[in-house]
Amino acid sequence: MIKINNVRKSFGDVEVLKGITLEVQQGEVLSVIGASGSGKSTLLYCINGLEPIQSGTIEVDGMSVHDKKTNLNHLRQKIGMVFQQWNAFPHLTALENVALAPRKVRKMSKVDALALAEKQLRHVGLGDKLNLYPSALSGGQLQRVAIARALAMEPNYMLFDEATSALDPELVGEVLDTMRLLAEEGMTMIVVTHEMGFARDVSDRVAFFQQGVIDEIGKPEELFNNPKSEHLQRFLAKVR
Ligand code: ATP
Ligand code: MG
Repeated sequence: MIKINNVRKSFGDVEVLKGITLEVQQGEVLSVIGASGSGKSTLLYCINGLEPIQSGTIEVDGMSVHDKKTNLNHLRQKIGMVFQQWNAFPHLTALENVALAPRKVRKMSKVDALALAEKQLRHVGLGDKLNLYPSALSGGQLQRVAIARALAMEPNYMLFDEATSALDPELVGEVLDTMRLLAEEGMTMIVVTHEMGFARDVSDRVAFFQQGVIDEIGKPEELFNNPKSEHLQRFLAKVR
């Protein structure tokens, strides 16, 4: 479980998270929507300890993320992250790219790491691209390699930060389908997205961020069909 309690986060004088409280249960898929600059990415970075916070607490499986005693490497192995874009190593094949972290971080043998990488690439539908170099892969395929790479750490959580935003429209579907598959398999996910269709169809809950606060949170049908917050009403009018 991810347990976020009254988290405040500032960059200099500017407070960008203004008391975020949120729990994500095991197996839950939470979509996070909201305007640019509302703090969505910052929250993800705080969850895996990439950013310090000013006050409040974040716990992941009972580990306090911002406690100095917490082993951040151990924490980050539990949390897979997929960003808008990923710079694969150009001189390594898809298989070798995915095998890298299991080798280096999990200290697996080469044979085991390659076997795991192959399994995860098959999982995301790239079983026929194992030996291709990044330059031979489409943007959508590269994003699926990024997902396979995160899965190769066998994480408990997957955090997605606009994983489809940099893609050509015709490539978005294949990546969303892969994310949908993970959701159906029971992966616990926080998905920052502009894809309202995905948020509506796949999430258990949706959180609407507005200037550093969760302005509204609930089941997708409630948020999308009957938004209570005026900010959310305006946001939805713009994105639909
Ligand atoms: P977008 O939809 O554009 O990705 P977001 O909701 O992810 O937006 P954040 O990237 O979390 O928003 O940014 C929240 C606020 O924090 C913004 O005002 C941004 O300018 C500011 N911010 C983010 N990162 C930093 C940083 N490293 N230093 C200073 N300010 C930052
Ligand atoms: Mg962002």
